[in-house]
Amino acid sequence: MSQVFYRSPKTRYPMVQRADGVYLYDQHNKAYLDGSGGAAVSCLGYNHPQIIRAIKAQLDKVPFAHSAFFTNEPQEELAQRLADRFPQVGARVYFLSGGSEANETALKLVRQYWLAKGCSSKYKIISRQQSYHGNTLGALSVSGNVQRRKTYGPMLQDWPRIMPCYSYRHQREDESDAQFAQRAANALEQAILEAGPETVAAFIAEPIVGATLGVVLPATDYFRRIREICDQYQVLLILDEVMCGAGRSGHYFAFEQENVVPDVVTLAKGLGGGYQPLGACICRQDIHDTIVDACGSFAHGHTYIGHATACAAGVAVMDVLEQQNLLDRVQSSGKLIRNALRTQLAEHPYVGDIRGSGLFIGIELVSDRTSRRAPANSAALASTLKQRAMDTGLIIYPGHGSVDGSNGTHILLAPPFIYQDQHIDELLSKLSSVLDHNELKSMV
Ligand code: PLP
Repeated sequence: MSQVFYRSPKTRYPMVQRADGVYLYDQHNKAYLDGSGGAAVSCLGYNHPQIIRAIKAQLDKVPFAHSAFFTNEPQEELAQRLADRFPQVGARVYFLSGGSEANETALKLVRQYWLAKGCSSKYKIISRQQSYHGNTLGALSVSGNVQRRKTYGPMLQDWPRIMPCYSYRHQREDESDAQFAQRAANALEQAILEAGPETVAAFIAEPIVGATLGVVLPATDYFRRIREICDQYQVLLILDEVMCGAGRSGHYFAFEQENVVPDVVTLAKGLGGGYQPLGACICRQDIHDTIVDACGSFAHGHTYIGHATACAAGVAVMDVLEQQNLLDRVQSSGKLIRNALRTQLAEHPYVGDIRGSGLFIGIELVSDRTSRRAPANSAALASTLKQRAMDTGLIIYPGHGSVDGSNGTHILLAPPFIYQDQHIDELLSKLSSVLDHNELKSMV
């Protein structure tokens, strides 16, 4: 019996023993092809020599020195390289150990910014339904995922949540893409007006919705309208790029495709590539400077902020992305996989939608393609798919966004950026057996 209690004691997992590139091996030497980067984390596979060398070199110098006493070279370099990606506005960076911490930091940062500006009534954060921004109480408060919230409801803030921009489910038949984008974005204006603009500090959203909806891209111009509304009502825009960022979409930040510049961005997962726990909260330089002018510094902190070894891994991940031009490869491999899936699954009775950007790919399963009816038991289907994939030696990340069956089960694919042609072939062939429709029939 395991002494760790992450999941039900009845759940039995294989014991991971070693890794080779994009494969993990268990105690019986069974190989598992990674088709989802775990949960969109392992963007460079599991034993990239350049990253391991960088981590070892940092460990030999100094693994960690507390931020109350020292800064360190890897965090300064990584912060500079992230800030360089915001030439229009300048940026400041706060390093953390993961995505929930990064979003907690963002929520506290926007509050302190408005206090510094003399707007003490601004504290509410508007978010979207069926969203996920993390499991700590603050991050969960702004998450619209009903299942994850339900146990902790009384402990959470219940700020307004608006509809997601999920065209497959919410676009009306008589509505153009542009009209849908406007309607979905205008829901923010309505929520701000109902809450009172003087109380709203920020709006948080994932540019591409990952785990809860299965890689849902925004309609064209949705975020441009969101930016306009935020500016009009003095509401800060926080974009959560924990899952879709750090190159996953084929652009370093997914928001680069939307022609908007956010006020705050959060990153994690791919930032450290799974080699070290690493997250970041990046804000516009003037947000930070306003806080410093009024309060001296941002009132926040954790023991492991700016961890030297974690940041060394982050620098090495960024080096590999840049030196090997991997974002181009993410775009071309992503296109190839999506096209192949569309061909392979064109007649599949239970595949409703295939979508994505770069190597961030979603397959939505339905019980009927015409009506788009969701499977009767989305949760059970998701866990069966995960197990069937593991049985065939494939790691995928199925999920479902609602408890009321209002949207389908999805499979999230997020292959490592270093996939070669043979990995793509193996992924497609294993997926095809996982999705065998005769076997799925009784489950949808
Ligand atoms: N934000 C998004 C969009 C996520 O997908 C996740 C995790 O899946 C988080 C935040 C929380 O990150 P972490 O699990 O590293 O705390």
